[in-house]
Amino acid sequence: MDKLSIIELNKQGLADLHIHSCLSPCADLYMSPRFIANNAVERGLKVAALTDHNTSQNCPAFKSACEKVGLIPLFGMELNTREEIHVLCITDDLDRALAFDKIVSEKISKFKNDPLVFGDQPVVNEDEEVLYQIPYYLGGAVSISIDHIFDYIDSEKWMVIPSHINRKRNSLISHLGFIPDLPFDAVEVAKANDDGREKWGNYIVVRNSDMHRIEA
Ligand SMILES: [Zn+2]
Ligand SMILES: [Zn+2]
Repeated sequence: MDKLSIIELNKQGLADLHIHSCLSPCADLYMSPRFIANNAVERGLKVAALTDHNTSQNCPAFKSACEKVGLIPLFGMELNTREEIHVLCITDDLDRALAFDKIVSEKISKFKNDPLVFGDQPVVNEDEEVLYQIPYYLGGAVSISIDHIFDYIDSEKWMVIPSHINRKRNSLISHLGFIPDLPFDAVEVAKANDDGREKWGNYIVVRNSDMHRIEA
C-alpha cells in the first residue's frame, strides 16, 4: 500500500501507525502481537504498525498474527534518537525492518535492564510464548541523530514520522523548537493539547493511539 493511502486511512481512523507490544518495557505484558492484531480488528482498523521502542523483534510474530485476522501489518520501531527525540520509522517489508533493527541494536546505549524498575522486555512468538528477553534497556538513546536517520533508511521505502511532537518530553518541538527540513512523511500529534490542525508547517498531521495497554 502506498504512503498516501496509508495516511488517508489514518485520517479516517482506519490506520494506527503507533502501537507498543509487551517488548516495550513500559507496555503491559498482555500486549502480545496476537492480542494487538485481534484488538486492532475489534477497533475496526485496516492497517496497524507495531512500533516498539528501539526494536522490531516482535514484528515477525506480528506479521503472522495479522495474516490470520486479515489486518495489513506495518513494521518498524519508535526510534529514540541521539537527541532523545522519538521518531516512528515504519515499513511494509519485515526484512527491511529487521535489518534496521540490527543496526539500532548495535547503536543503542546499553545498560542492563532491571525488570523490576523498567519492566520486562519479552520477544514472543505468535502463540504468545516467550522466546527470550532483551537483556539491555530498550528505552535508551540510539547514536543516530535526527538528521542522520536517512543515512540508514531509504525514504522511498519507509515512512518516517516524528512522534507526539506537541508533547513536552521526547519530542521534536520540545527538543529542537522547530521541525527541521527533512523528508518526513508526516508529524504525529498526541491527544493531549491537540488543537485539531491538519498541517504543522509543511507537514501533514497524523494521529495514532501510541497504545501501551488497553485503557480502562
Ligand atoms: Zn514516544
Ligand atoms: Zn510510543
